[in-house]
Amino acid sequence: MTKTYTRDYWNSALDGLKLEGRHFIGGEHRTAASGETFTRIRPMDGKPGAELARGTTVDIDAAVASARAAFESGVWRKKEPLEKKKIMLRWAELIRAHGEELAMLETLDVGKPVLASLNVDVRLCADGIQYYGEMIDKLYDEIAPTGPNARALVRKVPLGVIGAITPWNYPMIIDAWKLGPAIAAGNSVVLKPAEQSSLSAIRLASLAVEAGLPAGVLNVVTGYGEEAGKPLALHMDVDMIAFTGSTEVGKLIMGYAAQSNVKRVALELGGKSPLVVFEDADLDAAASAVAWGCFYNSGETCHASTRLLVQRSVQDKLIAKIEALTKSDIALAHPFEPSAQIGALIEEAHMQKVLRMIAVGEKEGARRAFGAEQVLSETGGYYISPGVFVDMTNDMSLARQEIFGPVLAAIPFDTEEEALRLANDTIYGLAGAVFTKDMDRAHRFSEEIHAGTVWINTYDMSNFATPFGGFKQSGFGRDRSVHAIDKYCDYKTIWQQFG
Ligand code: NAD
Repeated sequence: MTKTYTRDYWNSALDGLKLEGRHFIGGEHRTAASGETFTRIRPMDGKPGAELARGTTVDIDAAVASARAAFESGVWRKKEPLEKKKIMLRWAELIRAHGEELAMLETLDVGKPVLASLNVDVRLCADGIQYYGEMIDKLYDEIAPTGPNARALVRKVPLGVIGAITPWNYPMIIDAWKLGPAIAAGNSVVLKPAEQSSLSAIRLASLAVEAGLPAGVLNVVTGYGEEAGKPLALHMDVDMIAFTGSTEVGKLIMGYAAQSNVKRVALELGGKSPLVVFEDADLDAAASAVAWGCFYNSGETCHASTRLLVQRSVQDKLIAKIEALTKSDIALAHPFEPSAQIGALIEEAHMQKVLRMIAVGEKEGARRAFGAEQVLSETGGYYISPGVFVDMTNDMSLARQEIFGPVLAAIPFDTEEEALRLANDTIYGLAGAVFTKDMDRAHRFSEEIHAGTVWINTYDMSNFATPFGGFKQSGFGRDRSVHAIDKYCDYKTIWQQFG
């Protein structure tokens, strides 16, 4: 029988919820060495939420030492592949079994509808851990061609200690994209979640140990970027940083790697993805893709379709369809409301930044078609309605900067050449899409858009088998798919000579 979730249901679940805000190091919860904490303010109503350990260099040192000890002992990497697989599959099952709890933690931290947290974020997190768990006993090494008197093994070996630094927009999903392949490959991890969204990460780590992951293989240190993230990225005993976040901080991470031990880095950064609609496209399908692609998760999505490039002849028709669909289907409401499709922005400072960007955009001449206003302020939370600006040019700030709010910039074009030039006129290269019935044109476009993912007549479709990541200043390295394993490993050649 399908369960019915009401606002009262989630309110009473909240009453019984334990908010664990301490680090998780060596298999146990620990307060910060300094004893300091910080308070997370809930985006849905502006009330104080969890108290979190305020991690600093001392806590990072302890977590890295714990990860290193687990790695060197071989307690995980040398375990039978079948055993490792069973543990990761058990972990995935525990995530599913604790789905409602994890969904609540995620929603309290980030303000997205709790049903989205449950049906999307928890599900994809568990699926991600399962995907990499299943891979563990299916990965083979190589034997290189040699003469008859030698045998050369080419082994794929784990790097050692991975520092994972993650953002707040899809915390559980992105944690799984990093933890799944890093741990499946045999590494130990120190995870530093965003200061806005630590609760699900702490719980994921304790569930991993409950599933049988040896203590020390996965550690979580909470805290601010400068205080906890930076010492992790500068640490001399960390072999790699897997980072997802802004391009600005991604550049710092590269610098920290260079200043310390030349550790590897993989960077999943920002985006300003173009969605191109030609006049021959199915405009209903395009309107739906644009609205969900840009407004889902309140626009706090790295690959959101924030730049709509639309052939001038159909601009008005398409914008009218986007407005109608947004108003009928994308309900903005308190995250516990079952009807809510989108909820609050991450924090007040971010909401104010988005509102300031909108004001600057209007001064530059962007014309508001609808929405993009602060709403539900009586809740105490941080909500902005989905909105569209039209008749824009690609040099306006709303078309160039990543807004990370529910704001669409619509830019008209006349020819295919112009559309392609505008699509690629950005520092980012995370994703893009083209809507047309002309398949030759669709394929020309998908080849020529400089982005890690290009969709044809759809948006935001993917599965774990497809790599995800960026070109240009959207970063490098790929999450998801079998290829994600590669970045957490290196090749080791073992040459044996006979006679
Ligand atoms: P952010 O860069 O501000 O923070 C990301 C993480 O880095 C956080 O854990 C933060 O504490 C940490 N950090 C901040 N300063 C640091 C420093 N000096 N040293 C080390 N760590 C530091 O990003 P955010 O605001 O959390 O997330 C939004 C950004 O993430 C957007 O730009 C978005 O596009 C990007 N993002 C990209 C992807 C992708 O897959 N490409 C996915 C999600 C989000």
